[in-house]
Amino acid sequence: MPKYDYDIGVIGGGAAGLTVASGASQFGAKTLLVEKEKALGGDCLHYGCVPSKTLIKTAHVYHSIKNAAKYGLPAVDAGPVDYKDVAKRIKSVISTIQKHDSEERFCKLGVKVEFGDPVFKDEHSVEINGKPYVADKWVIASGSSSSMPLIEGIDQTPFLTNKELFSLDTLPKSMIVIGAGPIAIEMAQSFGRLGTKVIVVQRSGQILSKEDKDMADELMKVLVSEGVKIILNAKIKSAKDLGTEKLVVIKDSGGKTVSLKAEQILVALGREANVTGLGLEAISLKHDNRGIKVDNRMRTNHKHIYAAGDVTGAYQFTHAAGYEGGVVLNNAILHLPKKTDYTYLPWCTFTDPELASIGMNEKRAKEAGVEYTVWKEEFKANDRSLAEGEETGIIKLLINTKGKPIGAQILGPQAGDLLSEWVAIMNGGVKLSTLASAVHPYPTLGEINKRVVGTYFSGKIFSDKVKKTLKFFFHFKGRAC
Ligand SMILES: Cc1cc2nc3c(=O)[nH]c(=O)nc-3n(C[C@H](O)[C@H](O)[C@H](O)COP(=O)(O)OP(=O)(O)OC[C@H]3O[C@@H](n4cnc5c(N)ncnc54)[C@H](O)[C@@H]3O)c2cc1C
Repeated sequence: MPKYDYDIGVIGGGAAGLTVASGASQFGAKTLLVEKEKALGGDCLHYGCVPSKTLIKTAHVYHSIKNAAKYGLPAVDAGPVDYKDVAKRIKSVISTIQKHDSEERFCKLGVKVEFGDPVFKDEHSVEINGKPYVADKWVIASGSSSSMPLIEGIDQTPFLTNKELFSLDTLPKSMIVIGAGPIAIEMAQSFGRLGTKVIVVQRSGQILSKEDKDMADELMKVLVSEGVKIILNAKIKSAKDLGTEKLVVIKDSGGKTVSLKAEQILVALGREANVTGLGLEAISLKHDNRGIKVDNRMRTNHKHIYAAGDVTGAYQFTHAAGYEGGVVLNNAILHLPKKTDYTYLPWCTFTDPELASIGMNEKRAKEAGVEYTVWKEEFKANDRSLAEGEETGIIKLLINTKGKPIGAQILGPQAGDLLSEWVAIMNGGVKLSTLASAVHPYPTLGEINKRVVGTYFSGKIFSDKVKKTLKFFFHFKGRAC
């Protein structure tokens, strides 16, 4: 039997890598974790979910203060935002969470952590800082980075990505956001709320192009009402550094050339897998810049080398990275042939209101040729929503011809949390009648989940057939008014 120093080596200390490393070590496997940055935690902690959600909260509070009169309170002059203080708060939240992802904690779990740039020398050996490390199995979990735009002049024009955004010294007076995916839209709204004049430039005809257009359009209306300018169907021609400002030239939907100027450009055009420098070519590991190719057990073309998280280019969320890490543990450590199943993988865009989704939306159902009916309920009919001053939003439920829920999208206050009930229902195969008859506390936003199902059943319950049957047996006299 060949001799390896480690049972498993993990490259990348983000959500996917940390899940595998901690699990493997706790199962008794001798585990190596390699991270190229100075600290563990990955993009989510340092440049992604944590700083963005902290910023979103700060922007939300500032927005609420400025809109105090809406709640019957005296109007407040909040004064301008000092972004240094915002960045300080972001740093402090990161450093609190960092303790959970510290080298010491992983060492206590039994994981050997090495910082450096790993390069595959052969299918089992990786060189780190000039030293060879040999492991029976490897997991590549090196994440992703912001895709670089192919725009004339952008290489001569300073721009921001999620890596620089959260540590700015001053709040930009104006910002052009290139792209309209979740990161772009969350940041456009937050910076807009903090006082930046924001213009979003999007190639396609809607924001959040994976979502159904009706839901995305509702959200877009909110952003526009807050002062964010959104240009759809735009083609970016060029970018130029003008000194204090940057110029972005676009062709709008009517074919007109338009010059946009702003203090900062934020590029949020999607993600590229972090695959360069790992020596993947030397071991003929199949990949491209979208990601490392894996099968449904997260195995690469070398069956003892796995990949998980953003680097596979599939579902680029922290919870997906954690889930895939779990699949790797099952296969690589427990030798159980566990396969990935993304049917009910939920996600949420943390705008205000949030837009959360699970299962099929109309776009995906149509693509798959699945027949469905759509059931909707608006937040303005939810008592708690009105009390909270959060009347914008809608829940949209897709039900197949067998009466089974196949997808739910929620645009509304705390939509990400409200979706959890659907996570349980869909994963647990719970019948809609169970949800319809379950008592929900009043007044809660969560009642909307029960209510939309009630809408689905009410046509069946209060049908003419049922009324006729009741009349026959109980001699009911019918309408009184
Ligand atoms: C602004 C923003 C907001 C986001 N918000 C959310 C959200 O609200 N919810 C959500 O679910 N997801 C969110 N995401 C996505 C989420 O951050 C990623 O899906 C998640 O971090 C993926 O985890 P990962 O382990 O695959 O990669 P990462 O967390 O990026 O970890 C990869 C690690 O590998 C390291 N690495 C890279 N190359 C090498 C190398 N050659 N050698 C060794 N180590 C290497 C990196 O330094 C990093 O530590 C957001 C992303 C961004 C950018």
